[in-house]
Amino acid sequence: MASINLSRRTRALARTTTILAAGALAVSGTTASAQQPTAFGPANPFYAPSTLPHQAPPFDKIHNTDYQPAIEAGIAQQRTEIEAIANSTTPATFDNTIVAMERSGQLLNRVMLVFSGVTQANTNDLLQKVQDIETPKLAAAQDAIYLNTKLFARVHKLYSERATLKLDPESLRLLEYDYQQFVKAGANLSEADKTKLKKLNEEDATLSNDFMNKLLAAAKAGAYVTTDKSVLAGLTDAQISAAALSAKDTKQQGFRIPLQNTTQQPDLAELTNRATRQAIFENSITRTERNDANDTRATISRLAQLRAEKAHLLGFPNYAAWTLQDQMAKTPEAALKLKPWDWNFYSEQVRKAKYDLDENEVKPYFELDRVLQDGVFYAANQLYGLTFKERHDLPVYNPDVRVFEVFDINGKTLALAYFDYFKRDNKQGGAWMSNFVNQSKLLGTIPVIYNVGNFAKPAPGEPALISFDDVTTMFHEFGHGLHGIFANTVYPSLSGTSVPRDFVEFPSQFNEHWASNPQVFAHFAKHYKTGAPMPAELAAKIKKAATFNEGYRLTELLAAAELDMQWHSLPNTASLQNVDDFEKSALARTHLNLETVPPRYRSSYFLHIWANGYSAGYYAYLWTEMLDDDAYQWFEDHGGLTRANGDRFRNMVLSRGNTEDLDKMYSTWLGAEPDTKPMLKDRGLVETSPVK
Ligand SMILES: [Zn+2]
Repeated sequence: MASINLSRRTRALARTTTILAAGALAVSGTTASAQQPTAFGPANPFYAPSTLPHQAPPFDKIHNTDYQPAIEAGIAQQRTEIEAIANSTTPATFDNTIVAMERSGQLLNRVMLVFSGVTQANTNDLLQKVQDIETPKLAAAQDAIYLNTKLFARVHKLYSERATLKLDPESLRLLEYDYQQFVKAGANLSEADKTKLKKLNEEDATLSNDFMNKLLAAAKAGAYVTTDKSVLAGLTDAQISAAALSAKDTKQQGFRIPLQNTTQQPDLAELTNRATRQAIFENSITRTERNDANDTRATISRLAQLRAEKAHLLGFPNYAAWTLQDQMAKTPEAALKLKPWDWNFYSEQVRKAKYDLDENEVKPYFELDRVLQDGVFYAANQLYGLTFKERHDLPVYNPDVRVFEVFDINGKTLALAYFDYFKRDNKQGGAWMSNFVNQSKLLGTIPVIYNVGNFAKPAPGEPALISFDDVTTMFHEFGHGLHGIFANTVYPSLSGTSVPRDFVEFPSQFNEHWASNPQVFAHFAKHYKTGAPMPAELAAKIKKAATFNEGYRLTELLAAAELDMQWHSLPNTASLQNVDDFEKSALARTHLNLETVPPRYRSSYFLHIWANGYSAGYYAYLWTEMLDDDAYQWFEDHGGLTRANGDRFRNMVLSRGNTEDLDKMYSTWLGAEPDTKPMLKDRGLVETSPVK
């Protein structure tokens, strides 16, 4: 985390990074009438903290035109606050410098948390325009903090005196964290180099934003449209009605199958017409490579080049080395060294994995609301004692959004949790979690979190029946949710999910394991009509398919992770790359050029790494699997789904944010160093005899 990129645009935003699922991208924009932004004053809903319970965003009062003036006022206010700290004639103290920075930027934070949430899940033309205008300004605002010479002098002085300051552990951690962030961002550079860096940061932010816009448009344009119903053979009536609805919504004739973010498209498993499958696959894989306005190749080759220039300026051989300095993996070499796998074995499994399981047979047992309440919430109740109550009185940004109040074991409110599960044309693809309000004892706030997904919306009155992949996604995102909900720290910069990228996926991937825990599974996997439990035979089939899929998933993830790492390992002396040639040779170099398993994302539509903060960080999904498999094994060895196990995990890990060294936090909780054996077992790659 803490890399300098779009999703961490300002100091305020350093606390607002959205966490994407391993799959995430964008679908489309919708229309909005062009309105003039209004002036900023008490009438603006972001002017003061929300008066709703727990500072829930007042979505019923927020208009599209309110964001821009609030963002601009927020930037100006934070700049004034930061300059007051930097220019103070009082000698630096922890309180007047470090804590004062924690308190700064509250207006910007307030508006950006909501703006980020809404632009990702419910955007429109006006919001996209505001984003285009504000993106470079937000990048400059961040540089105005981290490259402020006087401010850094104060931080540096405190850092060098830290041994004598008698700080409590969390405060000491914050001081060390801040110092590291300043240095990483270039605070030690000469004034001339700082000027160069600011230009590169602005260009990076602008190009990332351009990339995102092109990708949105490309995904929308890449939808498969047909007027011939017969070529959709294999899809269920419900899927065909959804395709007809999608066509109608976009004023097209016939049927429309929108593109998902990833290379593979889910309907390919069910469509029986080979030509249809081929057309959809080709739409997917070429979406951003058609030599049209949505072609991203020129944008990404320049992005890769300028990031190499940035890293060189900052004294690193390449961008990956610069990014990884404050991650758990520490170096690009360590990040991808986990490769004891046999690629041929995987490619053999691929076809079976894709076609072995009939989704339409299993979906009736996964009704979304039951999965949420009797699965996701149930596991959180058994482990942590949490209870949930739906709130119908709090405003939402779209009628599909549901809000739950989360209660601790003592009956006290812990958090608010928003769930926005259904696919919309103006929502990015994939699934993610973030906060509308961050937890902080310093600021007196409790977490307001949200989970977003892209599940097919049923016709009115029909139940939402989802796949086991979707079930797993719900557990995953709620795992991030728990990391946010249990946050219990003083400083907002260290709270909840504000941890390095290669740790943040640990609580979420860990929580996925409960989806197939026998006790939890039996509690939610019931037929939506009859309430009958899923037949054991079918449940076993799901488990088997999941193991097969692991091979495919791991391979496509690793191919994507390699692409990411190789793009960001270019030295600054490298010329502008030809995207097609680079991708081919990058995959060939690592023996991942498997025809049957294309990368989960190709370079030209890899949103995570070009615009969403996972640059040189996509490996995190693989890295944390080592931790989460290991952690689940620990639970199994200690009695599984129990309150004692849950409470221990909550106290030692989930509530602790970034308040201590994460390697240490993890191994203290585990009582040992991480072990890779449970991961291999989980993937079905070693015999499932007891692993010690
Ligand atoms: Zn995640």
